[in-house]
Amino acid sequence: MTTTSRYWTAVRMIAAIGAASLVAACSGGAGNTGTGADTGGYPDQNITFVVPFSAGGPTDTVTRMIAEPMAAKLGGKIVVQNVEGAGGTVGAGEVARAEPDGYTVLMHHIGMSTAPSLYRDLGYQPLESFETVGLVTEVPMTVVARKDFEPATLQDLVTYVKANAGKVTLANAGIGAASHLCGLLFQTAAGVKLQEVPYEGTGPALTDLVGGQVDFMCDQTTNTSGQISASEVKAYAVTTPERVKSLPDLPTTTEAGLPQLQVSVWHGLYVPKGTPQDIVQKLSEALKAALADQKVVDQMAKLGTTPVPAESATPQAHRTKLQEQLGTWAKVITDAGVKAS
Ligand code: ASP
Repeated sequence: MTTTSRYWTAVRMIAAIGAASLVAACSGGAGNTGTGADTGGYPDQNITFVVPFSAGGPTDTVTRMIAEPMAAKLGGKIVVQNVEGAGGTVGAGEVARAEPDGYTVLMHHIGMSTAPSLYRDLGYQPLESFETVGLVTEVPMTVVARKDFEPATLQDLVTYVKANAGKVTLANAGIGAASHLCGLLFQTAAGVKLQEVPYEGTGPALTDLVGGQVDFMCDQTTNTSGQISASEVKAYAVTTPERVKSLPDLPTTTEAGLPQLQVSVWHGLYVPKGTPQDIVQKLSEALKAALADQKVVDQMAKLGTTPVPAESATPQAHRTKLQEQLGTWAKVITDAGVKAS
């Protein structure tokens, strides 16, 4: 993530603030019963990819993008299941408790590194409860509003929310979600405390934003690009140092006068601790193949992001990133003295 720890230490304003759906990916597997400790035949039953946020949101979108090419490489089927709630911690907890047999895989994002510092009774520990499989992508965020929201620019937005703090609503996907963290950064930079409206994912939050039920939010380009291009929402800025190629007219937060608001959202795949290493390797190889798939590259490009390089789609690179991010966020959140529950 691009935000400097120097900035994060300045954060003082962290506030207290399932429907299952599925996609069947490609075929080729035998489709019969599991094989216990003999992993040579893996996969010989459907693999479930758990998304800890609502269907239609950015984490869900990225998961569905890679599911089909991963299934093709593995020679099996992947079913995507949304297990929402509590900023992604409900779904992550479910995977932590699943059989470590390679048939339950979690897609999570930056929230994996923030939750231990925010939630008192998480029920899992990122480094102890999971095997890392590999990083997937790092996605810029955008600041977007309902299209008839009064402020025209990011600086107007800051002025407006300061003058109307009691009535402006800010959507997010729960405590520790990327939208929550980005919203906190915004509030800190603007020096206001707003009324936050939590959803179980930013898929439904964006629907409400388009419908005018909430005023504004931050969300990944993988969710907002379509609505920005179709002018269904008002877009103020992208939260990365560079503009996003697919949204060339959208200024960066630095260009728009709020350089403190810098965040991008890394995603990775996990399996329960104790999953056999050869299965972790097979999943990592399948992930690499999916990320090299031209269709995936093109889809990601349209949505303002890119796959990570092959060397980052590995268990070790992912673990290193997770360790570093856990440290960064523990300091920020402890300094801010915030707990979710
Ligand atoms: N974008 C969401 C977040 O705020 C998660 C999601 O719905 O995928 O973390």
